[in-house]
Amino acid sequence: MGEGPLRAGGCLCGAVRFEAAPSKFEMDVCHCSMCRRWSGGTFMAVPCGSSLSFTLSGGLSVFRSSDYGERLFCKACGSSIAWRMQDGSAAAVSMQAFDDPEEFVFAEEIFVDDKPDTYAFANHTRKLTGAEVMAQFANEQGA
Ligand SMILES: [Zn+2]
Ligand SMILES: [Zn+2]
Repeated sequence: MGEGPLRAGGCLCGAVRFEAAPSKFEMDVCHCSMCRRWSGGTFMAVPCGSSLSFTLSGGLSVFRSSDYGERLFCKACGSSIAWRMQDGSAAAVSMQAFDDPEEFVFAEEIFVDDKPDTYAFANHTRKLTGAEVMAQFANEQGA
């Protein structure tokens, strides 16, 4: 997965730099409570399959946020970098961490049933509940 052209990005302070090949040039927003707390907003993510690699990882730290997922961030400046399966099979990389975030189209919102009423995006997007996301994910993993 994620055999598209490579794109580069990094954290705010420069201690983490990465390369990844977006599976598609789309961004989706996750409204789940973990992503909101972790990102300080909503997590705007680009699906990159297993292609995420680090060219500079001095500041890289990993937090295991569930039985299967982990969150990668810079311990020097606090930037959120990516959510990843612990086995590395799939990663959702922060759109805002890419050097050119304007390449990505806002296509989808997930965990919409977890979204607080205090904000809403005006963009026309596909909207999936948490249950719909988990069902789709199980399908893709062949589980
Ligand atoms: Zn940093
Ligand atoms: Zn989330």
